[in-house]
Amino acid sequence: MPERMLQFVRLPQQTPDKRDPAARRADFREIYADFQPARAAAQASRCSQCGVPFCQVHCPLHNNIPDWLKLTAEGRLEEAYELASATNSFPEICGRICPQDRLCEGNCVIEKGYDSVTIGAVERYITDTAFDRGWVRAVAPRAENGLSVGIIGAGPAGLAAAEQLRRLGYAVHVYDRYDRVGGLLIYGIPGFKLEKHIVQRRHDLLAAAGVQFHLGAEVGPDLPFGELRARHDALLIATGVYKARDIGGPGVGLPGIVPALDYLTASNRQGLGDTVPDFASGMLDAAGKNVVVIGGGDTAMDCVRTAVRQGAASVKCLYRRDRANMPGSMREVKNAEEEGVEFVWLSAPEAFLGDDCVAAVRAVRMRLGLPDASGRQTVEPVEGSHFTLPADLVIKALGFDPEDLPGAFGVPDLALTRWGTLKTDHRTFMTSLPGVFAAGDIVRGASLVVWAIRDGRDAAAQMHAWVRQNAAVAIAAE
Ligand code: FAD
Ligand code: SF4
Ligand code: SF4
Repeated sequence: MPERMLQFVRLPQQTPDKRDPAARRADFREIYADFQPARAAAQASRCSQCGVPFCQVHCPLHNNIPDWLKLTAEGRLEEAYELASATNSFPEICGRICPQDRLCEGNCVIEKGYDSVTIGAVERYITDTAFDRGWVRAVAPRAENGLSVGIIGAGPAGLAAAEQLRRLGYAVHVYDRYDRVGGLLIYGIPGFKLEKHIVQRRHDLLAAAGVQFHLGAEVGPDLPFGELRARHDALLIATGVYKARDIGGPGVGLPGIVPALDYLTASNRQGLGDTVPDFASGMLDAAGKNVVVIGGGDTAMDCVRTAVRQGAASVKCLYRRDRANMPGSMREVKNAEEEGVEFVWLSAPEAFLGDDCVAAVRAVRMRLGLPDASGRQTVEPVEGSHFTLPADLVIKALGFDPEDLPGAFGVPDLALTRWGTLKTDHRTFMTSLPGVFAAGDIVRGASLVVWAIRDGRDAAAQMHAWVRQNAAVAIAAE
């Protein structure tokens, strides 16, 4: 077991073994094997224990990365787990799906010339080990405090808040319109990035802690928002953003052109053993088809890689900018290319061709122009550069906007920003309605799991502070 740190000068970077692309294409299992203990310790020992750790600064949760790397290098895994879980509600999930190249690892100082410490893989290893050895236990409040909170949305923001508030002794009720807990962790993100039992394990732990889940409960006409407000001492809205951005152009309404989340949800449900009529009918199944995915973000990457696994005849990703300017993680592009996806850079769809069903996409080449006010290069079509791609399934992955929440909840006083997200006080997380807080994508716009966790934890602390000041009942457990 290595005892000294600063081993980056001697030891090269090594990630956990990655499965062979041919094997990956055949199933929906995660693509990285578990870190072997000796390799995890050796990789952790590469850290140079910076006085000002930029990895920590650029982790949205400000995880104490250098300390848990040192403890891992020394084989003190239980202490490493205590530290990793002190700031992160779901470290095994972040270790798997954070875009580390843009966050902690992308800012590791040894990256220049030596390749960064594999922080995410070590975080995953620490917590997976903690689960295997029984160190991860359901939170147990010291005493019930006689107060109750309602959380709308069982995604990472809602779940992180639920855990923090239950720890403080609240009766915690989580309401979700879906039949399973996890939000996009369960129905958006595919199993090859995050296996579903990892999410279900967290659901079980929260249920064991006494968090009460009300599933299949859509807040709106069936379950009035006002009723929940009356039922609880404070409410958290963590409903995410689900309105898919659309494209125009002739033929865009043809059958066979589908939104990304419908496609991914059907695939995830199928994998979970549900009966999915649109999958069974072939509408949302890529098997044997020529698939064109439009978009360049993480959702597009998940779609192309899902289509490959479903046995598509060909999978192309059409993106109007180039590789260097795409919003998705470079690591995911590389994984997709290894698995046989073809990227058609600097190209945008113009029209969708077909009679009863889409049969082809007519596209045009784009070139990058001058930067706009945001500093991003604009794109413009190259005249006369049209080309046609065969396509029996076109998946639109252009991002998400918030739904009209005041309308859906029947609460016109719920104030919005000009982007349609919920307006909150950035310090207190409270919306325009007293005692109603909000966190996650519904406040930030489509973002990341790690930010949802951070917001959920911070909002929980603010809800606690507000309830202490405002609720009539005294808090017994302090
Ligand atoms: P969500 O996870 O969206 O959860 C919201 C929950 O609220 C849902 O369960 C929903 O059913 C429920 N809800 C909504 N309305 C109501 C209502 N009226 N009544 C009751 N319940 C309601 N991030 C990463 O960090 N890494 C990735 O690799 C990554 N991949 C992604 C892939 C895809 C395909 C997508 C779409 C997103 C991805 N993201 C990724 C982003 C990440 O999933 C989100 O930022 C994160 O899940 C937001 O958490 P949340 O809790 O705010 O919302
Ligand atoms: Fe890196 Fe994400 Fe873990 Fe933070 S939570 S250390 S950003 S993998
Ligand atoms: Fe270690 Fe890199 Fe973080 Fe420095 S920036 S503490 S070397 S992981």
